[in-house]
Amino acid sequence: MSSFLNTLLGWVGLAPPRIICARRVWEAGVHELARRTLGETRESGAYLLGRTRDNGMHEILEFVFYDDVDPKALATGIVTIRETALPRLWEICRARGYGVVADVHVHPFGYGQSASDRAGPVMPRAGHIAFILSNFARDTPKPGAIGMYEFLGNGQWADHSPRGRRFLKLA
Ligand SMILES: [Zn+2]
Repeated sequence: MSSFLNTLLGWVGLAPPRIICARRVWEAGVHELARRTLGETRESGAYLLGRTRDNGMHEILEFVFYDDVDPKALATGIVTIRETALPRLWEICRARGYGVVADVHVHPFGYGQSASDRAGPVMPRAGHIAFILSNFARDTPKPGAIGMYEFLGNGQWADHSPRGRRFLKLA
């Protein structure tokens, strides 16, 4: 579909969402992220694995929690991705036939990006999507109250948070 047509459809609310996830997968994953903050004493996060359809829409199929791939990922209280964890991640992707379509992490308060979030995309590739959940993911934040950022390359990001369910659709 041409981007012009997508723009037109977007105006009337008919453009396909950029990324979708089964509601049960999303809610179970978000609950688990909240649990892994250990009583809201540290941040937690996950790689979001899935597939990309021909129209470019991503589908999230599985959460892979940072601390399952790297036991030290949450040790400082702030999510730290170490390159030593990546071979384990690629092994999981290969075994499932999935790619990393996005990532998600929690913040203690708001869902805005920190300077380090902006400086260090989890997958430094244009089109990668990063979600941020406020208040340690307490009360399962919904699209519209979730930070949704797309890495554009060269340190630039697009903020899609206000698009809510038109960007991330839970079905
Ligand atoms: Zn952050």
